[in-house]
Amino acid sequence: MEDFEVIIGLEVHAQLLTNSKAYSKDSTAYGSLPNVHLSPITLGLPGTLPVVNKAVIEAAIKMGLACHSDITERNIYDRKNYFYPDLPKGYQITQDKTPICRGGYVEVDMEDESTMKVELTRIHMEEDAGKSLHIDGEEDSFVDFNRAGVPLIEIVTEPCIKNSEEAAAYLVEIRKMVRYLGICDGNMEEGSLRCDANVSIRPKGSSTFNKKVEVKNMNSFRNVQRALEHEIERQYAIYSTGGTIEESETRNFDPVSGKTIPMRTKEELNDYRYFPEPDLPPVIVSERWISDVRAKMPEMPRELSKKFITEYGLPKYDAKVLTENRGIAEYFNAVCQQTKNYKQASNWVMGKVKSYLNELTKSIEDFPIPPGSIAELVDLVAEGKVSNSIAEQKIFPEMLVEGNIHPEELARRMNVLIEADSGQLKQAIQRVLSSMPEKVEEYKNGKKGLQGLFMGQVMKEMRGKADPREAAKILNEELEK
Ligand code: ADP
Ligand code: MG
Repeated sequence: MEDFEVIIGLEVHAQLLTNSKAYSKDSTAYGSLPNVHLSPITLGLPGTLPVVNKAVIEAAIKMGLACHSDITERNIYDRKNYFYPDLPKGYQITQDKTPICRGGYVEVDMEDESTMKVELTRIHMEEDAGKSLHIDGEEDSFVDFNRAGVPLIEIVTEPCIKNSEEAAAYLVEIRKMVRYLGICDGNMEEGSLRCDANVSIRPKGSSTFNKKVEVKNMNSFRNVQRALEHEIERQYAIYSTGGTIEESETRNFDPVSGKTIPMRTKEELNDYRYFPEPDLPPVIVSERWISDVRAKMPEMPRELSKKFITEYGLPKYDAKVLTENRGIAEYFNAVCQQTKNYKQASNWVMGKVKSYLNELTKSIEDFPIPPGSIAELVDLVAEGKVSNSIAEQKIFPEMLVEGNIHPEELARRMNVLIEADSGQLKQAIQRVLSSMPEKVEEYKNGKKGLQGLFMGQVMKEMRGKADPREAAKILNEELEK
């Protein structure tokens, strides 16, 4: 493979989270009985007229702005004609020559700390088809038109992705972006985010593209990566034995075998006979509209991550973990409005808060403790008023139960506030040390590991109500005597 380079371009369909369909007021609700969200418009009955859904246009503009694309002013809709049982109208309303977003790019932070820049060709608006159902044991096939007319955006990259890991990393970033924007739930398993992967290989140094293969039907990031890896190997086997790929081809990925299987070649491809949709007037997107949409957009994950690093001094790793999910990022940001102990706040949110949510598969929106109370808890530990372990093991669990409560009040009630009285602490340390003279002797003879044992005993003696740093300091003084 050393003499070859890989060229990948991805086409991602994102199903938009609008209440109604792209060109009718039918519901987009998922999981209903088949064929209940159908109007004559969705069915394309004669005499019906589509109407554009403003929310679809705004979602597409949001994605375009997030990707630094140019937004098209005069948007023309086009008909893409083909016959398929799940396509009731016999055509899809899409955009051909005037995609709503042109150009732009997506930046992705890679594992090795580099940043990959994926150039976009376009983002356009279209509608989904229905679903054919092939039920085991049934002689007939069925069709469910609920999904017909559900809005999609299609995000198309330039052929600029160089390997399967980059492809997967780009998809993860796209999912994060559509989720931040709240325009798509990003669920690949359920098909709300779908990816067609185009791939070709060519000898290094060549400036012409070879014929590409388009792989479909991958319902996870992992499978996109597997499909590409298999396809790259398959193409390499062809070229390295003197063969060529004569025709662009569409292949299906089979997740069981990990292989791609031929679906159709260019010759069998449809001629879609695109023409401007006569039933929809062009939609004009004004500068004013664009700035109104921009004003409704959240901070995007990479911006937030930069802010966490520069303003809060967090390590890159923390910033990455905290911005994986918009809710968590905003929660953390809210905690940081009320404490200056940013790194400790990050530890709490990445640690206890996230593991609580993971364990109960809850989302941050359902988290019972308001950010201000976490900030107070962080400060309580930082000020040495409670030890970190007491905060984690006693106070935090109680806050989960009581929700909106001041942790200091709770600590007082639970009698776990650290007493500032260092005299008492010193006495406790002396008691502990005099109860184990042999250990003290061993310590003095060089077995420094015993420090942990002493500390444990001291904290036990103090029933946790000692500042561990203070205790360690006094303990050392006593041991040095
Ligand atoms: P089609 O009309 O077959 O869908 P397009 O030219 O619209 O093809 O490209 C679709 C996708 O395929 C884009 O993401 C593009 O970057 C990618 N692509 C185009 N040519 C190649 C190639 N030779 N190798 C890999 N990917 C390619
Ligand atoms: Mg294509």
